[in-house]
Amino acid sequence: LLSFTASPPSKATYHSLFLTLANNATAARHLHALTRRPHVAGTPANADVAAYVRNALSAASFSVHTASYDVLLSYPVRRSLVLSPSPRPSSSPSIAFDLVQEIYPGDPYAAAAAEAVPSFLAYARSGSAAGPVVYANYGRVEDFATLKALGVNVTGAVVLARYGKIFRGDIIKNAEDAGAAAAVVYTDAKDYCEDKRWFPEGPGMPPSGVQVGTTYRGLGDPTTPGWPSTAGCERLRAAELAASGLMPGIPSLPVSARDGEAIHKTVGGEVAPDDWQGGERGPIYRLGPGPGFLNLTYIGNETIATIENVIAVIEGKEEPDRYVILGNHRDAWTFGAVDPNSGTAALLEVAERLVKLQKRGWRPRRTIVVCNWDAEEYGLIGSTEWVEENREILASRAIAYLNADCPVRGPGFHASATPQLDALLKEATKRKVQDPDNFSQTVYDSWISSNDSPLASCSIGRLGGGGTDFAAFIQHAGVPSADMCFGEGYPVYHSLYDDFVWMQKFGDPLFHKHVAVASIWGLVALRLADDEFLPFDYISYASELQQNTKILEDGMSGMPVNFDPLNKSIEELKKAAIHIDNQRKATEMEAGLLGWTKDLRKVRELNDMLMMAERAFTDREGLPQRQWYKHLIYGPSLHDDYGSKSFPGLDDAIEKAKSLNTSDSWYFVQHEVWRVARVVKQASLVLKGKL
Ligand code: GLU
Ligand code: CA
Ligand code: ZN
Ligand code: ZN
Repeated sequence: LLSFTASPPSKATYHSLFLTLANNATAARHLHALTRRPHVAGTPANADVAAYVRNALSAASFSVHTASYDVLLSYPVRRSLVLSPSPRPSSSPSIAFDLVQEIYPGDPYAAAAAEAVPSFLAYARSGSAAGPVVYANYGRVEDFATLKALGVNVTGAVVLARYGKIFRGDIIKNAEDAGAAAAVVYTDAKDYCEDKRWFPEGPGMPPSGVQVGTTYRGLGDPTTPGWPSTAGCERLRAAELAASGLMPGIPSLPVSARDGEAIHKTVGGEVAPDDWQGGERGPIYRLGPGPGFLNLTYIGNETIATIENVIAVIEGKEEPDRYVILGNHRDAWTFGAVDPNSGTAALLEVAERLVKLQKRGWRPRRTIVVCNWDAEEYGLIGSTEWVEENREILASRAIAYLNADCPVRGPGFHASATPQLDALLKEATKRKVQDPDNFSQTVYDSWISSNDSPLASCSIGRLGGGGTDFAAFIQHAGVPSADMCFGEGYPVYHSLYDDFVWMQKFGDPLFHKHVAVASIWGLVALRLADDEFLPFDYISYASELQQNTKILEDGMSGMPVNFDPLNKSIEELKKAAIHIDNQRKATEMEAGLLGWTKDLRKVRELNDMLMMAERAFTDREGLPQRQWYKHLIYGPSLHDDYGSKSFPGLDDAIEKAKSLNTSDSWYFVQHEVWRVARVVKQASLVLKGKL
């Protein structure tokens, strides 16, 4: 393949070679080494894993450094949860839950499991609270609205809500807004262990398993919103932090399916609606309040700790000042076999393959940056602090950010991205990357056949706010981003059972999914780093904006809002996207026909326009009431940090106007239409490249 010939191998030859270098044994070895012990952010165990990642990347001859920050983390000190069948404890015996996740039969990690952090909700408010239990389903805004409509009094109650539909920080917030004194979030067996085949017999969550996680609703270190948490930096005062409204104001605890069921059994009142019920074998769920009565205490320690992002670089040959960034986090609530270290293992596999290419003479055209983030679990802290610290240099030099958090969970490929990357993602899955669950076809073939759409297209999701480390890149800095994984939800998420044994038995026994992720992730990065013209498609971006506007407009007929300004600027964006595409084709053709090398100045000029267009969708003022979020096209939904919304500011304004129906509220909708129209216009001017 790479024998001596007159001219050096082409970039495409190296890209094909990259795919043939897949090695599932190395990926398995890395995952095993990364997941020996629980490694929560800010602990010595996680510093050890950072050292492992640093060594692996240095051995692969990357240039490696550590970007450290001092950030506010949160650890549990004392927890207790006591259930009384009625408010008068003397009348019947109370249960004091032990809140322990049990070691499973044959657990080779039993000794290390003792080091795991006790189950808790990070940044939960310290304190004690007691009250009758009210059941609130998945804790969504609409669930609390249902309780209100049914006349169930939530004030002063301890809300019992189940995991599974929205970001847990929003569950706690919704309970707090409804007047609850405290909240308990549990794992419902119906959602996490439907057929009772729990780990280690099956993949399901064992009855004592608890989903740990953060309740902070912001991004990055809570004490440094918008600026980096470097040693000795300015920090918010406690009162300002409380006033931000992003920290929970009531105590809370997460509990297991078993404890959740025990609580349910003490709740009376009306029978909950059908779609609020659990599995057939469990009790019938009722709404309360009471008579079951919970006494909850949570005392946490919020403390400034040092976190470490490991950053590794291969410098680009022709354009060292252009960055293609790959990232995954390292910190885990427990062992982190799926979340996040299946991604870390894949990242190290990508890095090792890139170094093998280098040994055979390849150098990327642009710089490739490999990032291993810390403290993602607390609120995307490591990646956000790094983006805040490097905001301007990223804004002027970053081509794209490619994230993989828990990329190996189960079968079926999924991707989310900003739309100019769609075509590239599809192309990468088409290219000789076999479906790890069906070697007779490519990932692409399985992907399209998993879609019901008659158009046989694969659906690519859009990027919301939180959830994982792409958030700061896209929402704060306007860097085109993508995220990918095999599988969807997995039952042992954020529990003690997310370990190497689970991965080996259920997630990816032969580690073929790990190498498939590495192949797709690496190939997308290689194309972005090596292609002479950036493989960005703004024509389909504009079409998507057109469709989204139409959906919004159709849902609002008869309301006093004029979408013309937005439609007009999207039209201009489309024209500019076609124009730049034609310029690219012309430059390529000219070079092809005349056998000349391309005009490098022209190539760089067009690429800069393509690189900067996404930035134009951001606005200095940001979203109303959420100024940190600068992107006006994609953002998180207001009531679910995991959810994605197009035109998030506009969407919020519409929601408000529909409920208030005042002329002021409609004026603000129109104002948001104008703001979105203006950023789209800016993007079209960038793509036009003329004053
Ligand atoms: N990925 C973490 C979680 O789901 C953090 C998400 C966030 O803070 O937005 O709990
Ligand atoms: Ca910060
Ligand atoms: Zn994660
Ligand atoms: Zn996580």
